[in-house]
Amino acid sequence: MNRSSTASLRRPWIGGGIVGLSTAYALREQGVSVRLYETGLPGQGQSAGESRIFRHAHDDPRLVAFARESRAVWADWAERFDVELVSSDGAVAIGASALARLRVLDRVGGVAARAIGSDELAERMPLLAGYSGPAMFDEAGGAIRTRAAIKALAGELGDAVMTGEVVSIEPRGVGTVEVRSVTDCAVYSNVVVCAGRETARQARSVGLSLPVRLAAHVRLTFAVKGAAPARVACLQDGSGDFGAVGVYAAPREFVHCWVTDLPWSEDGVAVWEAGRVLFVAGHDLFKQAPSLGRALARAAIGDGLAAELMPEARLGAPQQ
Ligand SMILES: Cc1cc2nc3c(=O)[nH]c(=O)nc-3n(C[C@H](O)[C@H](O)[C@H](O)COP(=O)(O)OP(=O)(O)OC[C@H]3O[C@@H](n4cnc5c(N)ncnc54)[C@H](O)[C@@H]3O)c2cc1C
Repeated sequence: MNRSSTASLRRPWIGGGIVGLSTAYALREQGVSVRLYETGLPGQGQSAGESRIFRHAHDDPRLVAFARESRAVWADWAERFDVELVSSDGAVAIGASALARLRVLDRVGGVAARAIGSDELAERMPLLAGYSGPAMFDEAGGAIRTRAAIKALAGELGDAVMTGEVVSIEPRGVGTVEVRSVTDCAVYSNVVVCAGRETARQARSVGLSLPVRLAAHVRLTFAVKGAAPARVACLQDGSGDFGAVGVYAAPREFVHCWVTDLPWSEDGVAVWEAGRVLFVAGHDLFKQAPSLGRALARAAIGDGLAAELMPEARLGAPQQ
């Protein structure tokens, strides 16, 4: 390990997944100098694969508002980077939970979503022809073009992205944090850890215990029988009519991967603070990354962490 010490007050991000890239980009937008450490290639962790679902529907109105803000940033980035980042297929949810979530969307406002009948459902998702249970349609939902997003953000950050595994993070008594990677050792003013499945391990090194659960997932894509329709909505199945609930699907390929989540919700997200170091954990963060990144950037420059992102706020948990 090269231990040459460079005093620096840049703010480093650990992890080049969608959350780390979005956060670093948000800071870059504010003219702040950043450095992002990534063990391998950006987007190789939980952010790997070709697509993710963007949907506004959540149990927690605060998370709906978060998603609405993110959707606006996705649209802004698509224009700025001149590439499609969320498809215009829309997102369908079925089952009683879909209607409960639609009520949450109506309460929050500003999201074009509505209940749909079986004819429209069959049109948007031919596989569900014959299903007559509750269904809703989120017009601004769709498939997130994950590789395009990672490529665009990593390209914007250029040489601020450093290849190298961070091996230790050590808060110093003088209001700084020392970060050692396999290639350097530097001192920073603030550090944000967005290391996916490695975040909880990094947090333990500063005495924090994060209630992160780790599970292996597989996402499969099946060939379409006959001619594929020109457009197919993304699906979230909470009906129980087709076996396990919580099934979701987005058009294109397959991926094996690890996922992390928090005990209070499959969509839960929180940020833990240890002095000048922030640790981010949660699940289903791809869609939320733009607004999460902006919130983390604000916290890192001293504007404080949004109350809803503190662990005790249990963001994502159903609200009364
Ligand atoms: C199969 C599947 C389906 C999903 N579906 C959806 C969906 O439909 N919609 C949605 O919004 N979300 C979905 N998600 C969740 C979403 O993809 C993740 O929440 C998101 O990608 C997490 O991004 P991240 O940046 O936090 O973590 P990661 O992408 O895991 O990034 C962390 C990065 O940190 C790096 N790293 C780790 N340790 C170190 C270290 N010590 N030093 C340097 N670098 C380090 C890793 O190499 C990695 O690249 C899905 C996830 C999976 C796996």
